[in-house]
Amino acid sequence: MRKTDLLTLTPAELAAYITGLGEPAYRARQVLAWLWPKDAASFMAMTNLPLALRERLERQAVIGGLSVAAREKSADGTEKLLFMLPDGQTVETVILPYRIGDSACISTQVGCRMGCRFCASGLPGFVRNLTMGEIAAQVLYVRRHLRARGSQLRGMVLMGSGEPLDNWEATISFLEAVKDPQRLGLSLRHVTLSTSGLVPGIRQLAAYGWPLNLAVSLHAPNNEIRNQLMPINKKYPLEVLLPACDEYAQKTGRRITYEYILIDGLNDEQEHAEQCAHLLAGRLCHVNLIPYNTVAELSWQASPQQKIQSFKAALAAKGISVTVRRKMGADIAAACGQLRNNYCGEPRNEG
Ligand code: SAH
Ligand code: SF4
Repeated sequence: MRKTDLLTLTPAELAAYITGLGEPAYRARQVLAWLWPKDAASFMAMTNLPLALRERLERQAVIGGLSVAAREKSADGTEKLLFMLPDGQTVETVILPYRIGDSACISTQVGCRMGCRFCASGLPGFVRNLTMGEIAAQVLYVRRHLRARGSQLRGMVLMGSGEPLDNWEATISFLEAVKDPQRLGLSLRHVTLSTSGLVPGIRQLAAYGWPLNLAVSLHAPNNEIRNQLMPINKKYPLEVLLPACDEYAQKTGRRITYEYILIDGLNDEQEHAEQCAHLLAGRLCHVNLIPYNTVAELSWQASPQQKIQSFKAALAAKGISVTVRRKMGADIAAACGQLRNNYCGEPRNEG
């Protein structure tokens, strides 16, 4: 019999599950509190439940079902965890230390089907969606880990492996749990979802009107280059993607972050910066320039510092809000998907 993952259940479903075991309703509230605000790692840790109930839950249920398969810590404090899922698959989670508090970078799929040419997560292809419980368990693990060393989880980014809008249901149920005061109770203002640009998902998300930050992987100043880098651009080219992002900004009042990886000799020239400024002029947005993280299996290289700075200056000169992302965890292969690829051995190169 497959065990029930209690993290995937809404509070109402959990209440039905616990009372279905013949327990009084208040037990469900106790379990909910242990699972979410109290970060219990196991049923045995739920000390105010009768032992018989804890043993029964241990037999027939799980809390996310993740276990740590590998971990690496960077000199700059970035910590990378490789989680083993119940079916033996693995996904990565990164803990990002910031002065204002720690943040978690979490995965939504095993692999990814978007096939971006520069990305390690897409290299081995798509394996499966994570369940809502598997997404949530990454965050709960990180929060427990941070609490144990006296720090707090300030926010999170859905920027690990996978395309969150391609795993719509689990992602939405997870975001519901994040903002639910009975569960994670974290404002979506502290959460950023990164997408490669799935337009129907962006529009659906806009309709929710949540204050969730949206980051969009732009990476190119025109369709020609974006088509080379990201197959999704053929389906949703810039003239379709950007109006959807505008709608998101307008409905939520949140500015869009456009992520732009600078790859040497590919998208980092002055003319590209000017095209990019022209594309984004007048839009409620911010540009995050990302020095490319080298992927062992790929030949792309990061742009030199001086080119990164002149790209930034060209955008700023046109009045575009722009920053360069601090490079974190480069010594531990922090580019998404790399720890898993190293762990799984040689990825199948489909590029
Ligand atoms: N699938 C989503 C979210 C996960 S990827 C998306 O594509 O937006 C998170 C970010 O990391 C994206 O902006 C992605 O383009 C970027 N990225 C992927 N590989 C990278 C690499 N090798 N170096 C730097 N950034 C990378
Ligand atoms: Fe998937 Fe994002 Fe990597 Fe593209 S960049 S392959 S969408 S994880």
